Order: sequence, then C-alpha cells, then structure tokens
Amino acid sequence: MKCRHCHAALADVFIDLGAAPPSNAFLRDQDLTRPELHFPLKVYTCRDCRLVQVDEVQRHDALFSDDYVYFSSFSASWLAHARRYVAEVAARLALGAESLVMEVASNDGYLLQYVQQRGIPCVGVEPTASTARVAREKGIESLEAFFGEAFARRFAGERRQADLVLGNNVLAHVPDINDFVAGLREALAPGGTVTVEFPHLMQLVQQCQFDTVYHEHFSYLSLHTVQRIFAMRGLAVWDVQVLPTHGGSLRVWAQHAANPRPAQASVDAMLRAEAAAGMLEPAFYRGLQRQAERIKDDLLTFLIEAKRTGKTVAAYGAAAKGNTLLNFAGVRPDLLPYVVDASPHKQGRFLPGSRIPVLAEARLRDTRPDYILVLPWNLRDEISAQLGYVREWGGRLVTAVPALRIG
Ligand SMILES: [Zn+2]
Repeated sequence: MKCRHCHAALADVFIDLGAAPPSNAFLRDQDLTRPELHFPLKVYTCRDCRLVQVDEVQRHDALFSDDYVYFSSFSASWLAHARRYVAEVAARLALGAESLVMEVASNDGYLLQYVQQRGIPCVGVEPTASTARVAREKGIESLEAFFGEAFARRFAGERRQADLVLGNNVLAHVPDINDFVAGLREALAPGGTVTVEFPHLMQLVQQCQFDTVYHEHFSYLSLHTVQRIFAMRGLAVWDVQVLPTHGGSLRVWAQHAANPRPAQASVDAMLRAEAAAGMLEPAFYRGLQRQAERIKDDLLTFLIEAKRTGKTVAAYGAAAKGNTLLNFAGVRPDLLPYVVDASPHKQGRFLPGSRIPVLAEARLRDTRPDYILVLPWNLRDEISAQLGYVREWGGRLVTAVPALRIG
C-alpha cells in the first residue's frame, strides 16, 4: 500500500472505524431484503508527506451511483456561503463578461447560479448525472465528466482556459489527487486563479471530528500537504482563508508558479499555526482513535439510558457524517427509530448500514420526541433556530461530537 501522493509505503494508522457501506448508498424498500456492500474504513498517515488518506480507493461505481442523492441546494447555509464567495471572488479577481469561471464538482448549480446572475460566463464539471441535470435545468452548462489532467487538457484545447477554476469540497474527495491538481493547472489561464476549499485536518483532530471520515472522503488535508502537492504540479499558493464551514475549512488561493503575485502573510501564518499545533510531528496523528471510541461510548450510553427511562429519541439530518457515527457506534432503529431530512431525495429511503428510515421533518411534530440527535453538528446553530418549535413539548437537541451535549 503506497501513498497516493508521494508513493511512500503506508504503515501508520490514523483511525480504524471497522467496515461500513458507502455513506451515500441510501437504501430503498426493495433493498432491505438484499445484502449490503461494506468496505473497510481505515485511514493512514503518510510518514513522508503527511497526507492522511483512506487505505484503498474503492470502485467509483460503488461510491457514486447515478442516483447519488446529495443536492447542495438543500442547505440554506451552504447556499449563503456560495453567494458570499461569488461576491468576494468576482470583486477580488475583477471577473466580468470576458472571463470564464470553471467549477469542478458543480453539483446542482448551487454556486454557479450566482456567477451566472452576474453575467460572468461559467461552466460546471460534474460526474453525477442527477445533479448535473438539475444544474442544466437552471440554464448552467454542466459537463458530465470526472475532472483530471486529460479532461482539462482536452477542454482547454477545444474551448479555452479559465480565469477562475474552483473546487469546493472536492480536493479531499478525488481518488487521484496528483492527477486532479494537474488538471487544475491545465484548466487555468495564465494569470488566473484556482481556489479550493477543504475541511482542515487541524480542526478534525483538535475537535475530534472523526465522523467526517468516510469512503468518499479520500484525503484529509493540511495546508502543508496541499502546498506541497500543488507545488509539485506547478501551482503556488498565494493566500489562505479560514472558513467556518464543515467544522473548520481552509480556502486556498493558488496561481501558476511562474506568476508574480506575491504570497499574502496568511500563508506563512497558517503554516506556522499548523507547526505549532504539532502537525509536523507523528504524535499529532495518533490520538483520534481513542477520542472516537469515547464519543461512541457516550452516545450509546445516552441512547440506552433514554430507552430504559422511556424517553424517545429521533435524529435530524441524514448527512454522511451521521452514517459514519451511527455505523461505528452500531446504532440501529431500536435505539433511534427514525431520522428526518429536508431533502425529498432522501425521504422514504433508509440510512446505509443502520437501516434507519429517513422521513420528512413533519414527523417530529407528529411524534414529539424528547430528544433530537443533530447529526450534522456543524450546522447546530442553523438547525437549532429551525427546530425552535420542539421546545413547545420540551424537546431538547443533542449533539455527539466533539463531546455529548444536551441543549
Ligand atoms: Zn506521502
């Protein structure tokens, strides 16, 4: 087993969560009589480049089927984040009617719709047919393809290179990160800018966010590692921003290495912060397993105690991280009878592995549970405002990560 970036042998285990089905493989009624594919969920740290990564790349078709059910536009806070980003980047890079913006993993057009509203030409690249179709219905050009060096070279040859190439939460999700970054370079016009956002490994470890580990999430990234991978493919990081999204993310701004734009002080500051956090030392990468087991034990204790004392519990948000948590903890419908989710694409299905039914939010009012376990803990404030009505019957919100909290 070799590192997917530097090809050093992988030996150091970052976390081992056993085996689980792909986190977006929601089940239909008829699937309940069939076996489910489980894959090992074990993550390693490369001793050389410190790229934290899943042990082997699973087959694409098992992870991203055509009925893949994640539609970005169903999260209000994510839409607001996209709108703010577009306003900022359009001003900062002076984008206009002569520019071209390319988004990789453009999903249902949740972000490019704001680019289009400003009259800036744009194109999305999206491998998932169902989301690409929704984007096209909004009038956004969406090419159904896996992005990489070959795709970008072909696109640049037939069309043109882009002034802005962006990818939000895709860098960590691509199996071949070297090829992907080479694609960013090939797609980028001279003088252009790449921006990528990814959950920050520093926050993952410091905040015990082990439930953000799932199969589709191939890499766990620091600025040190991203800078190294970019440099090897001819891209230079010139700015970095800290974002609150996904429990703490980085947005990296990069350009062709030959470009003259000077690096902002933010880059050195973040590299120093990572070093100060211990990210250059092996010990940093060794404590998460124990923390994950503590979170699992606390959650199970809470659920069992609630059941024994006649309290009812439901969950909110059928997010990928919820599936990691529930499957690692071995939670089944006897402890958690249902989860509600705003996405109609998930309602009527069952969570992979745990087989907990996904229902519409109205079910909360009908059944008035004593506790609502919020699985996307990163959206706790947004969800808490939205679920204010549960206080009418004394309902309380619960989050499990980074520590059990009953609100
Ligand atoms: Zn490596």
